[in-house]
Amino acid sequence: MPKQARLSGIKSFRCYTIEEAAEVSGVSSRTVRNWASDGLRVMDGTRPALIRGDDLRDHIKSQRSKRAVKTRIDTFYCVCCRRERRAAEDMADCDVIGGRAKLTALCEACGTVVSKPVVEARIPEIARTLDLKITRH
Ligand SMILES: [Zn+2]
Repeated sequence: MPKQARLSGIKSFRCYTIEEAAEVSGVSSRTVRNWASDGLRVMDGTRPALIRGDDLRDHIKSQRSKRAVKTRIDTFYCVCCRRERRAAEDMADCDVIGGRAKLTALCEACGTVVSKPVVEARIPEIARTLDLKITRH
C-alpha cells in the first residue's frame, strides 16, 4: 500500500517547489513529479517549477477519492479479497464510543477480519440486515 500523503500542513495560498511539496505532504519528490505528469498543475514559466498549495491539496484529495471503495452500509471492504464483501453469517460486532461506532466482522468469503467506522445514528438501519452484538464504551 502506498504511503498516505498528508494534507494537514499544506497551505492553500502558498507556492511550493517540488521538493517543498514533497516535504510538506510526506512523500518523495519523485512522487510529486509523478503527480505533475498525472494532472497536478504546475505554474507556467516558473523556475524552479512551483505548485500552488490549493492545487496540491486538490490533487491529493482526488487521488484519495479514486482509491476509496464505496461499500453499502451493511457490507465491508475486504483487503484480502480486494472487493466488497458481506459479513460471514451476517454477524458483526459493533463497538460504540461517543456517537461513533466501529463494525467488525469476518469476510464471508475468506474469513479475514473486516471493519469500518459508522455513525451511531445508522446502527438501527444496519441492524435490519446484520445481527449486531453492540458494546457501549
Ligand atoms: Zn475476503
